[in-house]
Amino acid sequence: MSKPTVAIMWHRRDLRLHDNAALYHALKAGRPVLPLFIFDKDILDHLHDKRDRRVEFIYKEVLKMQDALQKMGSTLLVRYGRPLDIFRELTNEYDITNVFANYDYEAYGKGRDAEVATYLGSVGAGFHTYKDQAILDRDEVLTGAGKPYTVFGPYSRNWLSKLAADPTYLASYPTEDHTDALFKTPPTPMVTLDDMGFEPLGENYPKPTVSAELLATYQKMRDYPAERGTSELGIHLRFGTISIRDLARQAQESSSTFLSELCWRDFYFQVLDHFPHVEQYAFRREYDKIRFLNKPEDIERWKNGQTGYPLVDAGMRQLNETGWMHNRVRMVVAGFCIKHLLIDWRIGEAYFAEKLRDFDLSANNGGWQWAAGSGTDAAPYFRVFNPTAQAEKFDSKGEYIRRWVPEYGNVPGQSPQYPAPMIDHTFARQRVVEVYKAGLKKEEYFLRMHNIKWLCISKLC
Ligand code: FAD
Repeated sequence: MSKPTVAIMWHRRDLRLHDNAALYHALKAGRPVLPLFIFDKDILDHLHDKRDRRVEFIYKEVLKMQDALQKMGSTLLVRYGRPLDIFRELTNEYDITNVFANYDYEAYGKGRDAEVATYLGSVGAGFHTYKDQAILDRDEVLTGAGKPYTVFGPYSRNWLSKLAADPTYLASYPTEDHTDALFKTPPTPMVTLDDMGFEPLGENYPKPTVSAELLATYQKMRDYPAERGTSELGIHLRFGTISIRDLARQAQESSSTFLSELCWRDFYFQVLDHFPHVEQYAFRREYDKIRFLNKPEDIERWKNGQTGYPLVDAGMRQLNETGWMHNRVRMVVAGFCIKHLLIDWRIGEAYFAEKLRDFDLSANNGGWQWAAGSGTDAAPYFRVFNPTAQAEKFDSKGEYIRRWVPEYGNVPGQSPQYPAPMIDHTFARQRVVEVYKAGLKKEEYFLRMHNIKWLCISKLC
């Protein structure tokens, strides 16, 4: 029997049919389009907690897409395995002319795509990627000298002026007009969470929409964790269940502050894309010389929300229970972890990566490096958040704290069940400044020695 000829639309972080760049190009390319989703074993095997919110969320969204495609007489082919192995299998089942996908900025995704593209090339099939997750990416926003930006302020001014000058950046791809190009086939089987060793949590996730009311009050309310002042759209942006272009158009009309947050998202994508060393190292490499203490008992108390600092504990408990934490509190708990407890930012970053339902490598890494002072838009290292002052300012009635730390009670310091602060703020502040100073001095010394050696060598030549 001859194999059906198809073009494959490989969905990854773009779990939607509406306004999808790669899907649009696939549908316009003249071959029947077979949509595909792979539950990637290489990623899933690294998740130790088998009750993972992200996996459950993806699973539910994949089911919705499959249902929508079946109603159009097509299907979403769902496979579980290593992408390269899956493509080898698929080339036995189909005559694949081309594979279409949206671009990935993470090193793992880039490596995976290069491997798949090489294989497809060897069997005569093309591999095409498109910008879809970001509004502006790669080399679209560069400095006057043609270099990537490393500071948010000038990047955002350039980013905003480009959007204002060219509305096509935010134009939707009308995929709905071309669905007759989908490959017609009976429904295909679906793996179960159980097949992949995962269990459902039965959670409800926020809706993939933002209301006009929220955008109208966003600037005023977004810093107060007791309020529902932010969109909680992170998980939808992470897995592409909402179109970034639709969202940015809405923000352009009603909230410049919200639009600026979407700009931060693009900024961190381009940092990761241009400076891939940030996945392992400090963006400013001299910060890798800082000696952290990484005391196991401190790490545990921080993770479990038992530090004796109520805002830190509320944030960590919210994260552990719900997989989400308010941005203001993320900044406070990250600062506390690194600067009060002298825990390497990579340890905190990894814990967030395990727990956050909206975990995104670029934004998470950017947030942690910002808190460590080692990142692009680094706050000076001697700026140390005071968690008590932050609580007084952003949760003055203690509503957020009492929601997550009920034993804290109404009178600070009066509750016998709540632990005393595990470290004194003034002492911690002085200590971290000394430790950073010493680490950075060592690097200056190292650089000086390196330059002297280099001068000597170049003089000899
Ligand atoms: P909203 O305030 O409603 O913002 C809308 C969207 O804008 C967000 O969903 C997000 O996609 C984007 N956004 C907002 N703030 C930022 C920012 N500072 N950087 C990049 N994008 C932003 N964000 C993630 O999406 N994933 C992460 O893993 C992540 N880890 C973080 C770790 C630390 C230590 C810090 C300080 C921040 C981190 N952030 C991360 C950024 C920010 O905290 C979250 O995007 C935000 O809290 C998500 O809630 P929301 O969807 O209600 O955001």
